[in-house]
Amino acid sequence: MAGRIRDADIQLVRERVDIAEVIGERVTLRNAGGGNLKGLCPFHDERSPSFNVTPARGVYHCFGCGVGGDAITFLTEIDGLTFVEAVERMAARAGLKLTYEDIDGRVQRSPSSQPGLKQRLLEAHTAAAAFYTERLIDPEAETARRFLTERGFDRDAAATFGCGYAPDAWDALTKHLRAKGFTAEELTGAGLAKPSRTGNLIDRFRRRLVWPIRDSSASTIGFGARKLFEDDQGPKYLNTPETPLYKKSQVLYGIDLARREIAKTGRVVIVEGYTDVMACHLAGVPVAVATCGTAFGAEHIRILRRFLFDSESANGRIVFTFDGDEAGQRAALKAFDEEQRFVSQTYIAVTPDGQDPCELRQHKGDEAVRELIERHTPLVQFALDREIAKHDLDTAEGRLHATRAIAPLLARVKDRGLVDEYIGDYAGRLGKEKAELRRAVAGVASGQSAEEVPAPRRSPDADSTQLRAQREILKLALQHPQVAGPYFDAVDATPFTDPNYRAVREAVEAAGGAGKATAGANWIAGVSASCAEIAAQALVNELAVEELRIDREPDAVYVRTLLARIQRPVVEAEVADLKRRLQRVNPSTDKDEYMSLFGKLMGLEQHVRSLRDQAANAVE
Ligand SMILES: [Zn+2]
Repeated sequence: MAGRIRDADIQLVRERVDIAEVIGERVTLRNAGGGNLKGLCPFHDERSPSFNVTPARGVYHCFGCGVGGDAITFLTEIDGLTFVEAVERMAARAGLKLTYEDIDGRVQRSPSSQPGLKQRLLEAHTAAAAFYTERLIDPEAETARRFLTERGFDRDAAATFGCGYAPDAWDALTKHLRAKGFTAEELTGAGLAKPSRTGNLIDRFRRRLVWPIRDSSASTIGFGARKLFEDDQGPKYLNTPETPLYKKSQVLYGIDLARREIAKTGRVVIVEGYTDVMACHLAGVPVAVATCGTAFGAEHIRILRRFLFDSESANGRIVFTFDGDEAGQRAALKAFDEEQRFVSQTYIAVTPDGQDPCELRQHKGDEAVRELIERHTPLVQFALDREIAKHDLDTAEGRLHATRAIAPLLARVKDRGLVDEYIGDYAGRLGKEKAELRRAVAGVASGQSAEEVPAPRRSPDADSTQLRAQREILKLALQHPQVAGPYFDAVDATPFTDPNYRAVREAVEAAGGAGKATAGANWIAGVSASCAEIAAQALVNELAVEELRIDREPDAVYVRTLLARIQRPVVEAEVADLKRRLQRVNPSTDKDEYMSLFGKLMGLEQHVRSLRDQAANAVE
């Protein structure tokens, strides 16, 4: 029987772990007021932040795609961990020891449940990284050490970046990890070993300098390995293949070290290799990252945007470095095909004599690397200049061809202000009137269609006054149970006309009622667990983070006003129903029934009047 973690321990983990810190490792969160934090959702592609985190209640919710939950849910969703693994990882960060019990509540010494595949692959990588770094001091690793020293990387630098050495043996790592209990399937699944022609398991990396590739939370998910010896038949760089952990279209080397600085400065520098990332960080450009064995693409942008917080207000900058005009030109033109706001925030830095940042630091020092990054040119300007440089502007024909060459580039820039700015600058240089250049651009642009903007998904229509009040009172029950408590519990689910709202109301009751609850992560988790449906669960999270409609602390008056507003239509409907029944009763023949209904009606009308008075309180 699989051991389970004691409920009390799970609650303690929820209380002790700061959800903002857990999520902050993947997404830059900014203060959004009212105790809420905001960021770009890691679960869907978005341009302005709708992903909310409320640390006081231990929950997150995305108003764009509807995902939500607590810190445990976040880890299971983003890292594919099981519930138990997510709790274990959080307990480890908080320094808490977990107790496992069997189905009868007897304490067990250790978890008997099997960790999931991803967790095992992560563990194998951690062990492999330790193995490689230990081998770097072996006599055999002399060439690897010299490679680092020659490029200006000392022992400390090697340690910071976790550089290691894959020894000259067929299965040194494989044997080491097998002895630690990893299975052949786990080693091949992790991309650390592969079957040889004879069927034996052999190491993927041999006789190479290796860099651990870590994700943004600093877990090692793969390796990059550089060839050191002439007789090595393999490519110069060899990387981990695609695995459940390692997706090269999403991997950014150095993101674990750079993410905080990227968030702080709103700037990121893209370089081409492991040594360039090291050189930049050591030279005082701690925002450098590199792709691993693949070109920079749309998925990389998506990931960086989360750290850059690339919203309308925050003006993020992405600086690409290139060792040469040709490479820069090609990449710049390619970047035009990416999304538009990316284009206007992209800059290019080209080393004058074709050196990469690592070589630049080696030959000219840290200062030169910092200067290279500082001398960045906007992508659009860079591309226009390169295009114009191909023509002789001293002749009328050259100027005409240059105009024709840059018009399509300008036409691809969607930012009107930016286009106007460039038209102003370049018309002068081409000896044209602004209007003339503008016509040329418009001529190209007229064939293009407008971008489609999808509307964000909205959960139960919050527009009607009634539904708004229903929503607000549920928020109070979740966020401020001690204020809403007894009043809330006294009103049953009838006034909640939206089925999802009604489901949440019922979940509050099933979780023990708001009257007995204490605000916090465990209350929200309790209500969430009491929901019969996933849709209601998502709504609980949404309501737990959504700001109240008042600017002050909620009080009993506010609660009673909202409850009066949602109850009024119910009682009014009962009044109308009673009146209809009274009309059908003949007062002279059925006097008793008539008087009884009439008495009820009087009572209900009195109730309606008091609800009306209460509902009219100006509380918002
Ligand atoms: Zn989302």
